[in-house]
Amino acid sequence: MTARPDEDRDVIIHYVEEIDAGTGERRDTWMLYVGQTPIGDETTEARAIQSGLRIGGKHGKPVWLLSRRGYPLKPITDDDRTVSFVASCPEGHQPSIELKAGKVRQHLDDLEFFCISCGHNFKPDAKSKDNLRRYVELADSSWY
Ligand SMILES: [Zn+2]
Repeated sequence: MTARPDEDRDVIIHYVEEIDAGTGERRDTWMLYVGQTPIGDETTEARAIQSGLRIGGKHGKPVWLLSRRGYPLKPITDDDRTVSFVASCPEGHQPSIELKAGKVRQHLDDLEFFCISCGHNFKPDAKSKDNLRRYVELADSSWY
């Protein structure tokens, strides 16, 4: 991991707030750059990070986020990637859950999910944790 960003070469995810000239509505956009070259944009930070990591992997470049808070650039790693999966609550519902890959790696035993159907918090059982761990590792190796 490079310690310092090189804005002429690295992958930069740049948050901008766009205002529609016609309606005056504001809209969040995350622009993607390789160096100074714009290569796309996304409507959520999670999607922008996902695309940024994929592009960074392909080009062998570090990825940085310029968030709505501005500078300094924040280094983005695979731990920042959002993982989506379907959990099973003790009452048999299957809420879909989103969390950061780094949280799965570092805090798997402390994870607690919320089921929107019954309003209960629950901890994933051993099998779910196993699946989750494997899911994150699998994504690691096949992601790029
Ligand atoms: Zn439930």
